[in-house]
Amino acid sequence: MGLTGLEIYKQLPKKNCGECGPPTCLAFAMALANGKAQLSTCPYVSDEAKANLESASAPPIALVKAGDGDNQVEMGDETELFRHDKKFYHETSVGFKVSDSLNEEELEAKAKEIEDLVFERVGLQYKVQFVAVVNDSQDAETFKKAVAKVAANTSVTPMLVSEDPAALEGALDVAADKKPLIYAATADNYEKMTELAKGKGCPLVVKAEGLEALAELVEKVVALGHKQLVLDSGQTEASKIVGDLVQMRRQAIKKKFRPFGYPSIVFTTEEDPLAEITQAITYVSKYASIIILNTTKKAHVLPLLAWRQNLYTDPQVPIQVEQKLHEVGEVNEDSPVYLTTNFSLTYYSVQGEVESTKIPSYILSVDTDGTSVLTAYAAGKYEAEKIAEVMKKVGLDDKVKHRNMIIPGYVAVLKGKLEEASGWNVIVGPREASGIVAFAKSQFS
Ligand code: SF4
Repeated sequence: MGLTGLEIYKQLPKKNCGECGPPTCLAFAMALANGKAQLSTCPYVSDEAKANLESASAPPIALVKAGDGDNQVEMGDETELFRHDKKFYHETSVGFKVSDSLNEEELEAKAKEIEDLVFERVGLQYKVQFVAVVNDSQDAETFKKAVAKVAANTSVTPMLVSEDPAALEGALDVAADKKPLIYAATADNYEKMTELAKGKGCPLVVKAEGLEALAELVEKVVALGHKQLVLDSGQTEASKIVGDLVQMRRQAIKKKFRPFGYPSIVFTTEEDPLAEITQAITYVSKYASIIILNTTKKAHVLPLLAWRQNLYTDPQVPIQVEQKLHEVGEVNEDSPVYLTTNFSLTYYSVQGEVESTKIPSYILSVDTDGTSVLTAYAAGKYEAEKIAEVMKKVGLDDKVKHRNMIIPGYVAVLKGKLEEASGWNVIVGPREASGIVAFAKSQFS
């Protein structure tokens, strides 16, 4: 939660020398408040002011990073309790438990199964973030080998689950370059765990039973100089987990209580996969930054990722596809042409049904600011002249030799005007995308 420009200005030296770039301290304060300047560019800020400004302008929940390269995972850095107040920034990371008691083939198969958990939906790619290797064997060498095997067979960021610093140290020898998340520092091992995490530049989960103990332990770890932390309040009952997640988020955002200003992690406990996913959906909804699951089946994971996607999109910006002439299948000059809007959910519903017709077709998506057909029409964003203009812009006349445009049934009222504006024959299609297959059968076969 940033400070206002005036609050920052009060702490600046007020020399108005301009050495920082802006001509005055006030202008510099405003730039700082808007995130457009760095405090370090003023050489005259006192150490006291620096400490105040740096801590006061830090986000209420720290940004914590794990993994490297394209697989780097960012967590935290949230500023809101409710999505409708602004938006949530870093979607909940999803990970999967893999026991180090599995044999080599099983470990390899599991790692590949997790690697394969990538989905395409409404034009977006859904991925998973962590593979959590658990030291069930309680043996350091077995753990190290399992971590190496898993790391070699998936690009997903590892999480090393062991409370034994010796086992962790061995595992870090083979996985430190992937910047794994280390789980966990407890009251008994936090000094050694912090040293390991700090030494390798890895984020560290801090775990304690209950919020009070957790806050105390976080302060001890921070005092040792490590701030890339993730919090586990040690609960195993779903209702208590949700209670703790909400409490930590409220305390961090509303009260700026620093010990809880870090991302959080939870583990699912339900054995039945559907109950497990339901539990995980609750945790996504109420602030978990990382959820570790047991099930790795695509059919179980996809609904969770879809829920996450819905929650972590900006509520003020609908998901959109590009305004263009899309091709479905091997189109030719006789292919039918369907008209829709650029709202992702509408477009992909239409595209899925057009694919099911098995008739190669064009779909023209018109930019309606990401609104659906009826909403766009009601808002004056889906009018005949505009559609005719887009038809011309994409060169539709040169793509097909017929002149038949299929429009959504909901805007049948556009038929006359669009025919006039475009010179094309307009065919009124079904109201819902689900009617496209039957419609195509009746028209084109
Ligand atoms: S360098 Fe510092 S003292 Fe000079 S104008 Fe900028 S903020 Fe003010």
